[in-house]
Order: sequence, then structure tokens, then C-alpha cells
Amino acid sequence: MSQGPIYLDHAATTPVRPEVLEAMTPYFTARFGNPSSMHRFGREARVALDEARERVARCLGASADEVVFTSCGTESDNMALVGAWRAQRRKGRSAVVTTPIEHKAVLAVAHHLAEEGTTERLLAVDANGVVDDAAYDASLGEDTALVSVMWVNNEIGAVQDVPALAARAKAAGALFHTDGVQAFGKLAIDARTQPFDLLAISGHKIGAPKGIGALYVRRGTTLAPLMHGGAQDRGRRPGTENVAMAVGLAVAAELVVAEREAESARLVALRDRMEAGLLARVPDAVVHGRGARARAPHIVNVSVPGTDSESMLMALDLQGIAASGGSACQSGSVTASHVLSAIGVRNDLAIAAVRLSMGHETTVEEVDRAVQVFASLAAKARGLAGVA
Ligand code: PLP
Repeated sequence: MSQGPIYLDHAATTPVRPEVLEAMTPYFTARFGNPSSMHRFGREARVALDEARERVARCLGASADEVVFTSCGTESDNMALVGAWRAQRRKGRSAVVTTPIEHKAVLAVAHHLAEEGTTERLLAVDANGVVDDAAYDASLGEDTALVSVMWVNNEIGAVQDVPALAARAKAAGALFHTDGVQAFGKLAIDARTQPFDLLAISGHKIGAPKGIGALYVRRGTTLAPLMHGGAQDRGRRPGTENVAMAVGLAVAAELVVAEREAESARLVALRDRMEAGLLARVPDAVVHGRGARARAPHIVNVSVPGTDSESMLMALDLQGIAASGGSACQSGSVTASHVLSAIGVRNDLAIAAVRLSMGHETTVEEVDRAVQVFASLAAKARGLAGVA
């Protein structure tokens, strides 16, 4: 059994895959050209960029002209929401429909648009984080510019039926965006058969470096650009393109798509083993979102009554286990995460939440050791707090 550190925070970020690093390296040195330059260095960079775009597009069931490279998932979400909203507003549609469990990369943008004059509608979700069907249909009206529903929630792993939701939004004349940052590489994504208009992905969640993402934009979808300045990416995203990172994203995307079925099945087995182990040792632990029909394969979010997330995370870290909280620490006071609050988790449980997220290098031995350490730390914390 390995006694080295155990990284269980893959929903936060992942290590760069060696194949990705190897493919990228020449584009920092020998092949450093600017893809807009006419000479051979430029042409070489242009070819690499075009190929990377083709490869990412293929992984999404898309065409190269439907892929915009960005700096991260957050930028992709901003580009989708602000760009689509501005374009739709010109057609007299201004309402934005989203969920209260979105990542802040969507939620904060929707709030920002509300300040600019849009109507913001937050959909009800059930105790597992699944969007309420009736509330969804009721939210779609003639004024709806854009719907943004995340595919996989990053805190509890709730999965939405994005193809069905997208079809209904489109029937109502709205554009449909999905934050696919935690879904890409885990669920089957194919723009040819699934009717979303916009989809955000992020490199560092799939074994590419931090600092690269992409937005899928269905052909015919008008987006107002966020930035102005150059003609790169047909004016959609001006600025000299990051060729090395685009190459890295392409390689990582191809790897996760090729491995998806086997890897997702492996992760589901690890997730179930982890949950069964935790519940066997700590029977009153609560695994959030566990009752959902569809769940992400890589995320376990658990609260032990009578503990608190911050102390658990520090204790886990001292034992070499890297996890993260479902709660945010703001100015010294621990507050419940907006996701756990939205699904109705009691505050004392919400502030105890620990997210353990698995990835490509996670092993059975690591899961077993994490379960054992987590359970003994929880028992100790409750002992200290005087809880039986
Ligand atoms: N959306 C979701 C669901 C995420 O989990 C994250 C990252 O945590 C983001 C968006 C933001 O991605 P990035 O870190 O690439 O900006």
C-alpha cells in the first residue's frame, strides 16, 4: 500500500499528462512562431493551431469552425453567457435562466447581467441537485434569451439531462449553454446528436495545463465578442493564439475521449467503493446527491455530523490526503456552499462537507487508505467535540 500523498482533488485540477507535455514542448521553443505571421515559423504554428482545433472539434462531434480556444472554463462560460445575451437582446429577448447550483463562472455572470437589466430566473433543484422539470418548462418564455444549465455539478456530481433540457429550450426559441467543465471526458458528449448551442470545457480538469479552455459554438449561433482588438479566431477571441496550449488541450481531449468508457466505469467502481467504505465505518455520514439517478463518476461529497470541513481538511492534509471542502471560508467564518444550501442540506452538515474527487491516477489502494484515514479522523474530531 502506497504511503505517499494521495491526491483526491481532481475536480479542482489534474496533473498534466506526460503525453500532453511532450506534444506541447516544441511549441515553446523550436516551433514558437506567431500563427498570423506569413513566414515559415508562422505557417508551422498556424498548421499546429488548425490541427489542434480540428482535433478538439472531433472530440465534441463538432467542426473546427465551431471551436473557440479560451484561457479557461471561466472565460468560456463568460463568453457564452455575455456573448449570447448581448446578441439575443438585439432580438428583444433578455431573460437568462440558470440554476442556483452553477459554478460561480456562470452564476456570477448571470448576476452581473441582472445588474445590466436582464431578468434572471433561478430554477428550483431537488435534494439531489436535479433541475425540476415543471419549473424548467415554466421558465421558458418568449423573453428567454439564454438558458445555462451545467452538465455535471462540481461539488456533488449531480448530472442533468442536458440533451432533453437543450431540446426544450430550443423549442422555446432560446439559446442553450451548458458548462461541461466537469462532464467532458466523463460523459458522452456529441454535438451532432445533442442539441446544445454552446458548451464550455477546461483543459486543467482533463490532464492539460491550467490556462487553456474552449467554447463550442454551434454554427449559426451569433455571439457578441467579449474583447476587441484583432481578427484572430474570426474576431470571436482577439489576441495572439496560445499554440502550445491548444496542442496540449487537443492531446488531452483525445486521450480522455478515447479512454472515457473504461475510465468512467473504473471511477464509478472507485466512487462506490469509497462511499460504501465510508458508510460502513461512519454509518451516520451523509453523502450528498447520492440518491440521484445519474451521477458523475469521480465526485464524492460527504459530511460527518459533529465535524467541520476546515478541521477535517487540515487533518487529512497532515495525513497526506488532499481533498477540498464543499464550503467556502469567508473572512474567518465558515459558510455553507451555495450548492449544498440550494439542495436543502442542513447548515451544520453543509459546513462539515468534504469533497473527495478521483482521477486518472487514483488507485483502489488510495481509496481504501483514504477511507480508513477519513473515518479515524472523523471519530477523533467527534470525540474532541464530545459527540458519541
Ligand atoms: N465550471 C465548473 C463546473 C468547474 O468545476 C470549474 C472549475 O472548477 C469551472 C467552471 C472554471 O474552470 P477554470 O478553472 O478553467 O476557469
